[in-house]
Amino acid sequence: MSEKKSLNGGEFLIKETQAQDIFIPEEFNEEQRMIAQSCKDFTASEVLPKMEQLEKHDRELLSKLLKQAGELGLLGISVPEEYDGFGQNFVTSMLAVEEMGKGYSFAVAFSAHSGIGTLPILYYGTEEQKRKYLPKLASGELIGAYCLTEAEAGSDANSGKTKAVLSADEKTYTLDGVKIWITNGGIADVLIVFAKIGDDKNLSAFIVETKTPGITIGADEEKMGIKGSSTVQVYFDKAVIPAENLLGERQGGFKIALNILNLGRMKLSGATVGGCKGTIDLALHYANERKQFGALISGFGAIKWKLGEMAIRTYASESLTYRASQNIDDAIQSFIDQGLDKGKATVEGIRQYAIEASIAKVFGSEILDYVVDEGVQIHGGMGYSAETQVERAYRDSRINRIFEGTNEINRMVIVGELLKRAMKGEIDLLTPAKAVGAELMGIPDFGSVTTDYFEIKKKMLVNFKKSILMVAGAAIQKYMDKFADEQEIMIALADMIILTYAAESSLLRTEKLSEILSEDKLALYKDMTDVFFYDVAGKINKSGVDAVNAFASGDEQQAMLMGMKRFTKASNLNSIAARRRIADHMIEKNQYPF
Ligand SMILES: Cc1cc2nc3c(=O)[nH]c(=O)nc-3n(C[C@H](O)[C@H](O)[C@H](O)COP(=O)(O)OP(=O)(O)OC[C@H]3O[C@@H](n4cnc5c(N)ncnc54)[C@H](O)[C@@H]3O)c2cc1C
Repeated sequence: MSEKKSLNGGEFLIKETQAQDIFIPEEFNEEQRMIAQSCKDFTASEVLPKMEQLEKHDRELLSKLLKQAGELGLLGISVPEEYDGFGQNFVTSMLAVEEMGKGYSFAVAFSAHSGIGTLPILYYGTEEQKRKYLPKLASGELIGAYCLTEAEAGSDANSGKTKAVLSADEKTYTLDGVKIWITNGGIADVLIVFAKIGDDKNLSAFIVETKTPGITIGADEEKMGIKGSSTVQVYFDKAVIPAENLLGERQGGFKIALNILNLGRMKLSGATVGGCKGTIDLALHYANERKQFGALISGFGAIKWKLGEMAIRTYASESLTYRASQNIDDAIQSFIDQGLDKGKATVEGIRQYAIEASIAKVFGSEILDYVVDEGVQIHGGMGYSAETQVERAYRDSRINRIFEGTNEINRMVIVGELLKRAMKGEIDLLTPAKAVGAELMGIPDFGSVTTDYFEIKKKMLVNFKKSILMVAGAAIQKYMDKFADEQEIMIALADMIILTYAAESSLLRTEKLSEILSEDKLALYKDMTDVFFYDVAGKINKSGVDAVNAFASGDEQQAMLMGMKRFTKASNLNSIAARRRIADHMIEKNQYPF
């Protein structure tokens, strides 16, 4: 039986994680690297040269490429071997998604098929359903899509109106309704459809074959970006499906939808890491070729600042993505050890880290938006030309903040889920929050002075966490059960939590790397960590102060503002020089080097 060393989901806020207990991307083994290489080769040789044609809504080409990916085994990475897949763990599937993430809109089609289009059957299907569909989904013989959203049911997904009526002999369901924004809809053979049976309060899920009479697939939507993915409306007009195609329990659909979304959120974050690295490479290549004022633009400080910052944020995003992914794998193993079957263990493992999945989704999508924006800027006018890949990257990135739950909804999930777990007694937020309150009223204890690089940063982390507990504790006391109405405060808190988790993940990775890299090689990783902490301290301060000023007054306000200042203190740093050192290394390597 394996010993689970990682903390439970959300516990990072009140407990310290040891560097040796996290997974870092530098630890990928040979087999994992080979899978990544296959994805990389496939994207470079098959996908990228056909992007322009794909963007003309060439459904045939899109299907063909997915089938080719299937033949190479890339669609079945998470599917167990007994259903003709590769049976790889979650971290490996994330690495594949990262590499495919460099394939622009094809990455969206790939993720929708192999993630939300396939995994509901793997995790919730009966043995018969799994045997019937999984091998063909893994090989690409069948293409999958996921139909949750409706015109009136977007973020409020459980309010969908699509109906399923059970026949008198209970042998069939008749589906009626319209789903919108369905990725892969134009090429799909199998749909996971969410609908309400009769007058049920909650959704149920169904496996529906698109060849079923009564199903009409709309034209591809004209979108801002990801034009190579097929996004359509799907109409169900008295479409009769066998009763055995109910997926999971009746009214269990919303639970399936949420759990699959948690998984989709993690995968999206993996894809954004790939997108960041791909865009940084584009920016570097351009900056190392483009001359102005008689010099390469990569030599200008303004450009170096951007390149350095793009890498610093990407490093943080990658660190937190793989840290959380390994946590999920560990949790899955621990549930299996407790006697759950693999499917249920996977669902529980992912649910355990729902907070981290939302953090990864929000952080990853916003970092990619930052990176592509600066990528365009580095290209100057050429960045605005449809002839450059960076223009495509810019347009394609924007969707990530909207699907898999908008970033507003995900921010609310982060705080809401933490509070829910605290109420259930799963995470003790109250005791540390009270301790911070008492500390605020007492004489400040600055603790022992240390000069150790990692200890200094860990003290900063402890303080960031105190600032979150202070603001959250006071806000909850103030608003009690009306807290959920204070979305701006929840969002400020979510930002503080996201940045703290990202900073901790960067630091732990750098600390773990200190065991394997020479001090010389480690220096740039420390630079990235230093700048990130320095910036994050200021951002956490701003969010915390905004929140405090919204609900506190008088002495309480003054004490809390003082607390915010104390808890987000960062020592002076020449961040300009640090960014330059990072950028110089990137410029020399002419690719993302970390
Ligand atoms: C290209 C593309 C592909 C997609 N693929 C799929 C797919 O394959 N399958 C599928 O089922 N769906 C898919 N979607 C749908 C996507 O998941 C939804 O668009 C998304 O969940 C948001 O829903 P909405 O568009 O109705 O926006 P709304 O829910 O109307 O949101 C509008 C704005 O209001 C905010 N908002 C909403 N509710 C709240 C609240 N309670 N508190 C605060 N702010 C709130 C949102 O954050 C957002 O800023 C896709 C969408 C796009 C654009």
